[in-house]
Amino acid sequence: MRESREVCSKEEEEEKKKKGLKRDLSSSIGSILSEGFRIQVHSGTETSFWGHVWLGDRSLKEEFPRLFLISNQRESSVSLVKQESGDMVWNLHYWKRRLNVWETNQSEELHRRLELVNLDQSKRDVLQWKWTDDKRFSSKSVYNQWEQTVHSRNVLLGSLWKNLCPPKVEIFSWMAIQERVSTRSVLSSRNIVPEGQSISCRLCSLHLEMPDHVLLHCQFSWKTWSVILDWWHVTWVCPETLSDLVRWWFDTRFRNLEKNVWEASFYATLWSLWLARNDCV
Ligand SMILES: [Zn+2]
Repeated sequence: MRESREVCSKEEEEEKKKKGLKRDLSSSIGSILSEGFRIQVHSGTETSFWGHVWLGDRSLKEEFPRLFLISNQRESSVSLVKQESGDMVWNLHYWKRRLNVWETNQSEELHRRLELVNLDQSKRDVLQWKWTDDKRFSSKSVYNQWEQTVHSRNVLLGSLWKNLCPPKVEIFSWMAIQERVSTRSVLSSRNIVPEGQSISCRLCSLHLEMPDHVLLHCQFSWKTWSVILDWWHVTWVCPETLSDLVRWWFDTRFRNLEKNVWEASFYATLWSLWLARNDCV
């Protein structure tokens, strides 16, 4: 009886692993596909202004989530946004309400980006694939990209999973480097933050509250990391992302005992910053 229960639980474990792998695989492939396509805009008539990726590496609704939420042009094509004024300038003034100061800054930033775009009514918009030289989609390129993603995630996961601190802190660290912790901007991109509620950083109120910002680039966070590194007499250049910080931190060479304390100090700092952020409600 006991044996059969053990066999059953092993099978269940295997089943869970398989399900986990399938979920992981489809989510990785999904991100590769959604990140891989980009539209080269010519006439702008077939491209969604907010929804498609055509200006930069992300859609404008992801880059400017608050502006998207209060826009009355959510369904407009690129050409429609440019033509609605009648004199071929970008006309992004159809907001549901008056913009506050922070949103005005965002709007100005968006206009600065748009100034670089010229439309050509004689040509159709072209769908391009990011992961090949000739910009054409191929399933081989998806596979290659997926292999690279899995490899780099495994290396990162191996770095983070050390049993040096409570599991919830390790899990939080893993979620944070994948930008999956519940900051206001992340919630807003899933339409979870109510309209009218700020999505700016709780610590400084100056930037969008993205995980990389609140846990690394925000002045308070950056200074905290600098103080910790100062204690270790380690010089650093603030990296672009939390993933880069993890790679650098866990590649830094120390003797065994020191190494454990050094690695534990990463988790302690990251977790403390998150608690400090939560205290600033
Ligand atoms: Zn901040």
